[in-house]
Amino acid sequence: MSAPIGSTVLGYPRIGPRRELKKALESYWAGTSSADDLQTVASEIRAGTRTDLSALDSQPTGTFSFYDQVADVTALLDAVPPRFRPDGRRSGSALDEYFAMARGTETAPPMEMTKWFDTNYHYLVPEIGPDTTFRLAEKTPVDLYREAVDGGVRNGRPAIVGPVSYLLLAKAADGAPEGFDPVSRLDDVVAVYAELLGELAAAGAGWVQFDESAFVQDRSEAELDALRRAYERLTSVSTRPSILTVFSYGDPGPALDVIARTDVEGVALDLVTAPDLVDRVPSTTGLRDKTLVAGVVDGRNVWRTDLPRVLSRAATVLGGVAELAVSSSCSLLHVPYDVSVEDALEPTVTARLAFAREKVAEVALLGRALTQEGSDDLRRAVVDASTNQRAAVDETVRARVAAVESADRSRSAYDVRRKAQAAELGLPDLATTTIGSFPQTPDVRRARADFAAGRLDGADYTKRMQDEIERVVRLQEDLGLDVLVHGEPERNDMVQYFADTLPGFATTKLGWVQSYGSRCVRPPILHGDVSRPEPITVEWAQYAQSLTPKPMKGMLTGPVTILAWSFVRDDQPLGVTADQVALALRDEIADLEDAGIRIIQVDEAALRELLPPRRSDWGAYLDWAVGSFRLATGGAADETQIHTHLCYSEFGDVIDAIDGLDADVTTIEAARSRMEILADLEKVGYARGVGPGVYDIHSPRVPTRDEIAALIAEAQRAVPDDRLWINPDCGLKTRGYAEVEPTLRAMVEAAVEARNS
Ligand code: GLN
Ligand code: ZN
Repeated sequence: MSAPIGSTVLGYPRIGPRRELKKALESYWAGTSSADDLQTVASEIRAGTRTDLSALDSQPTGTFSFYDQVADVTALLDAVPPRFRPDGRRSGSALDEYFAMARGTETAPPMEMTKWFDTNYHYLVPEIGPDTTFRLAEKTPVDLYREAVDGGVRNGRPAIVGPVSYLLLAKAADGAPEGFDPVSRLDDVVAVYAELLGELAAAGAGWVQFDESAFVQDRSEAELDALRRAYERLTSVSTRPSILTVFSYGDPGPALDVIARTDVEGVALDLVTAPDLVDRVPSTTGLRDKTLVAGVVDGRNVWRTDLPRVLSRAATVLGGVAELAVSSSCSLLHVPYDVSVEDALEPTVTARLAFAREKVAEVALLGRALTQEGSDDLRRAVVDASTNQRAAVDETVRARVAAVESADRSRSAYDVRRKAQAAELGLPDLATTTIGSFPQTPDVRRARADFAAGRLDGADYTKRMQDEIERVVRLQEDLGLDVLVHGEPERNDMVQYFADTLPGFATTKLGWVQSYGSRCVRPPILHGDVSRPEPITVEWAQYAQSLTPKPMKGMLTGPVTILAWSFVRDDQPLGVTADQVALALRDEIADLEDAGIRIIQVDEAALRELLPPRRSDWGAYLDWAVGSFRLATGGAADETQIHTHLCYSEFGDVIDAIDGLDADVTTIEAARSRMEILADLEKVGYARGVGPGVYDIHSPRVPTRDEIAALIAEAQRAVPDDRLWINPDCGLKTRGYAEVEPTLRAMVEAAVEARNS
């Protein structure tokens, strides 16, 4: 028997409390430090993690990654796509090959990146074909386990993405036959995992943790059967550690029954996302004989746990299983390191927060309280560790949300709006525009940083931004665009910018979380009722409009995207919070209208990102998501043209919701997918303006005018000219003027030509 898991977490941040890994990676990639330097930083981060986790009964090992835990398995299995081995074998070091997969080389584009469930983390999508060979190429999990033991960890548990989820998260390699399913390679992959189990046992590991979270998404019978087969095979390995199968980010549904009937020794459940799972525990055949790791501390949000409540819930399953352990609901990868370094937050907010370190303390305390039941001291400690601080209430905001009626979420019929807007704006067919941001030059960034640091005073800063706006407006006039933008020089980030000014949000100093590889984000914390005491964007928009007779687009970020890229309070339904943000935006729209802005774009870049893992939950989500957008925009006058922008082309499933936003114009990514989206829109009867991107801004390539013309022609086949807009795929912020200027010029020329032919 392996030692009990007791209190644990399923994973830990690995970027370093001060983003040490980010800095080390970037300097290694830039060639200014050596692989040894990088390894030194990495082992220091791992040592820090071991210390941070030392209060727990057991800890995961190997949750460190140089880039991504899915890419780690690709390297482990040697399933490196052949384009990274043009000569059929690895050319440089294993580490450099790994970074080549993540970042690409001159000859090989990087592996595709996609979102890890409904979090803001992105993984590298494995590419699996019929010919992919799998072998245990390296023993990193074994090495990292040994390192942990040497570092004093007694109850370490190697943590690895599970074999079935690895394949379910993969895509068919280029050149695989039509319909090829990576899961068809399961037996070969499981054979390597079986070998690894033997190695881990030999190294002394008592437990191993396999993340099978792909089963919180809808899965077919065949996929469930793959899960059964994989774990029957793995549990039959003669000398092996106990196996903990992890389901995070949702409800594993039927996969729980499948895994419970196998001989795995432990199952971890996410009781934060799926609290009702508790009720299934007693009736799930096979679970009674296992260790149940109850994920009761939220691994992906920043709020303190209601420990007494969790404790009493945990106690109800205590008798139902062989052994109960307590844990985070998922890896703590999704939260920052440490609240205690945040000295600029309101104490009433700080008192409600728990980042990774604080969550570890919560789990440790829960573990002790569960095992040493009856100890008064402990019970008191549990109560003391819980916060009685609540979100500050803004009665005005509450009353306003309560008074929202369904009429507030709708505008006049589109036909009425269309006529009013045509009269007001007088735009040509195939009107040209951009998505909002223009390239952010070092100068602009420096001015923002200087202003933030107090090195530039308000008047100077305003002047610098106005100069930039003027430059961008003149450029657009010169290019001949029909609808202009101010270029967003004053915005660091499309969410942070709004969060910085709206009451109800807080910004951290060091609250970084990994988005992918070395890339980190610092999500604002939406902690209280949101209001908008004064205009945010109006002055800039008004100034920009004053420079030109052409219509200037006001530029806002929508409620869903603001929520998606923040840590959001969990003490009320998300829909209520979204409506509060929507009302703030509604006021901003009214003020923009008053200032003479006739076109307003409300970006919903993240609409798709918050889709829950299971389809049965989509309807409820889309209801509040679409409802909040409509509340934000529902007060706009008929003559005001509302645009929205969505960042990707795979909308298939949410196309009705996009139609439901009822925007007058929807701009959308389409250049790479060659306008496929238009047919989908047509199918649901979308009959308003649409601007499929004709310039792929994710690539530094400058497309030719002919290429753009071909895309326009393709779009014209699906959409009549008077509803078709011509624009890039997304904002131009990350590109340089050397690419942007010629491309926009070509785009406008191609549009004018198409218009006149
Ligand atoms: N208006 C924003 C910009 O142009 C939109 C960015 C986005 O969609 N991600 O930068
Ligand atoms: Zn976009």
